Amino acid sequence: MATLTTTSLSKSFGKTRAIDDISLDIGDGEFFVILGPSGAGKTTTLKSVAGLVDVDRGSVRIAGRSMDGVEPYQRNVAMAFESYALYPQRTVSQNLASPLRSGRSGRYSEAEQKQRIELVTTTLGIDHLLRRFPRELSNGQRQRVALGRVLVRPADVYLLDEPLSHLDAKLRAAMRSELKQLGAMSSTTSLYVTHDYQEALALGDRIAVLREGRLVQVGTPLEVWHEPVDTFVAKALGQPEINLVDAEVDGGVLRAAGGALEVPVPRDSGLAAGDRARIGIRPRDVELGRGAEPATDHLRVRGEVRLHERLGREIELTVDIGGVQLVAVAPGAEQVTEGDAVDLDVPLGKTHVFAAGAPGEDTARIGAPTVPGRNR
Ligand code: ATP
Repeated sequence: MATLTTTSLSKSFGKTRAIDDISLDIGDGEFFVILGPSGAGKTTTLKSVAGLVDVDRGSVRIAGRSMDGVEPYQRNVAMAFESYALYPQRTVSQNLASPLRSGRSGRYSEAEQKQRIELVTTTLGIDHLLRRFPRELSNGQRQRVALGRVLVRPADVYLLDEPLSHLDAKLRAAMRSELKQLGAMSSTTSLYVTHDYQEALALGDRIAVLREGRLVQVGTPLEVWHEPVDTFVAKALGQPEINLVDAEVDGGVLRAAGGALEVPVPRDSGLAAGDRARIGIRPRDVELGRGAEPATDHLRVRGEVRLHERLGREIELTVDIGGVQLVAVAPGAEQVTEGDAVDLDVPLGKTHVFAAGAPGEDTARIGAPTVPGRNR
């Protein structure tokens, strides 16, 4: 059990600034997730904590103890990489037992070792593979055994680098909840790297969003979801990406799509008549309009379906509203088709307002529209 603190960690490889000024304060037993696209600096952050990368600047403290000059093997961290190594000539059972028989772990009795192995193998669903050799396993099974090798060893901090990347979608989802339980049971401080926002939201006590080596936002899943600091974070969380619609303040509202979309101006936003901003609407928040009136706090807009695409079990609609394309993933979408006129109900309380920007430019969040009778 230990806290983990990084202060201003920075590392460049030649001209590439892999990480820049990364300061994190991770609580004892916290499951902390780093989320970011490829090349954002996630692995470099993890390796810096493990002592596998010599940072240019900054420091790491584990359990209050400075890691300056402390060798990786002396740090009492256990790290799982996306690519993993197992002893080819040992069975799964022997592979899992070996971390418990060495070094600091040697103090565990046979009974305690057995108990740990049992807990980990049941949680990871590999208890039926114990007698097999690594060559007799699928990639996903091998990855779970490698993860098991890390989790079986008691450590101050677990460092987990995309440990579920080789699993299929169904197994990943199952593994997520199992890992969450294991995390809660073992209460070991964990730093978990992923580029999968669903994994981050499901697993993290808190999430740090990383972009080009810098921290963009640190918060609980609810905070980063409901109050993304900018359009980068809003886009990183959600598939399909959040819709960003250019708007202008006119008569106390933000007007977009030739007047078809009207959203109240956020309170204390400082936005005045004629100012421009962006309205953010998540595709999964949009509903297909039914009945004569939209539900309270919903804005009804009329458009024409331009694209109708199946995404697994769901349908993604691209709807043209006054020349603006709005993506919606809404129940009931299978009943409409390209060229149909549809009503979309947009929940005003779930929309976001961001500063105006050029296409592709990320801009800060201004706030949420002030919806009468609602506090957010
Ligand atoms: P991914 O999700 O693709 O694994 P990441 O977020 O983990 O990416 P890092 O592996 O930390 O990213 O890399 C951050 C940046 O540093 C990238 O631009 C990468 O090319 C660069 N980089 C990382 N390690 C090295 C190295 N040993 N030599 C040169 N450049 C490196």
